Amino acid sequence: MLLTRHDGKKDPLMNELKLGDVTTVRIEEMHGPVMSTDQFFPDLPADAWQEHRAGLEPDHLDGGSTMVNSAFQTWLLRSEGRVILIATGIGNDKTLPGAAYWSNLKLGYLGHLAGAGVRPEDVDLVINTHLHVDHVGWNTRLADGEWVPTFPNATYLMPKADFAFFDPANNPSIAGGVNENVFEAGIAPVHAAGQVRLWEHSHTIDANLCLEAAPGHTPGSSVVKLASGDDRALFAGDILHTPLQLTYPEHNSCFCQDPAQARATRRRLLGWAADEHLYVLPSDAIPLIASGSPGAGFHVDLGFVIRSVCGRAPGAGRPP
Ligand SMILES: [Zn+2]
Repeated sequence: MLLTRHDGKKDPLMNELKLGDVTTVRIEEMHGPVMSTDQFFPDLPADAWQEHRAGLEPDHLDGGSTMVNSAFQTWLLRSEGRVILIATGIGNDKTLPGAAYWSNLKLGYLGHLAGAGVRPEDVDLVINTHLHVDHVGWNTRLADGEWVPTFPNATYLMPKADFAFFDPANNPSIAGGVNENVFEAGIAPVHAAGQVRLWEHSHTIDANLCLEAAPGHTPGSSVVKLASGDDRALFAGDILHTPLQLTYPEHNSCFCQDPAQARATRRRLLGWAADEHLYVLPSDAIPLIASGSPGAGFHVDLGFVIRSVCGRAPGAGRPP
């Protein structure tokens, strides 16, 4: 794997990864404190956070506090000549009654994307690993009072199980939860435009990339596996939200829909990643995590920190 900064120097503090024939750039929407440790991970003992505090601050734990820091971001991939986005953050201008602290954001996400040389019309494929509010936001943008696809030439890959689950017509409990209004503003308009392709079980993207179902966090949660040249990586979606879950893989976040299935999926995929020495690139966490040897937990080298293209965006640090 080649690690390259935008200034061309090899350095672990970089914007860009070269994984085989695939180029990967982390595009940050925002990064900051989201929820307290006991809210976010109700069963994870407070002592564990304290024990690992030095390794978690400042990217994953707010300095001196019990607030978990998360990154909302997209992995931008260039593979076989196509521009691919994995996850699309929270988005601007959304009305989110169940996540009011994310409502009506005015962030520079598209500018960050432009900083990596990508205009919305350049995007060929959008991968929503699952359909939670903070992963589908930039699917759409507001234009003359209407929600329209942000990426007019893209196919949007969505898990069939999540498309059914998060449709309030099928599931009235969506109203009042964190995903209230999300289907209407971020999913249905793309579907109406004929740009959605639903998939289940697994889906081959190209010779380097494939999607695989990883249910539990949500019914349709998925991961992207990369195999190119000698490099292997796992874009892990929301199977984990903090590196501490590598040490305590049995602990879920409060957002995991099926706790037992989420635990089993996390153990299976992280065990596989450790066995195969994969690089694990989570959705909501900052570092690139290089897997070490498998063990009772997962012995992991918290390898490299990937800096955002344009630095930290304003608007982070909104408490729930
Ligand atoms: Zn999620």
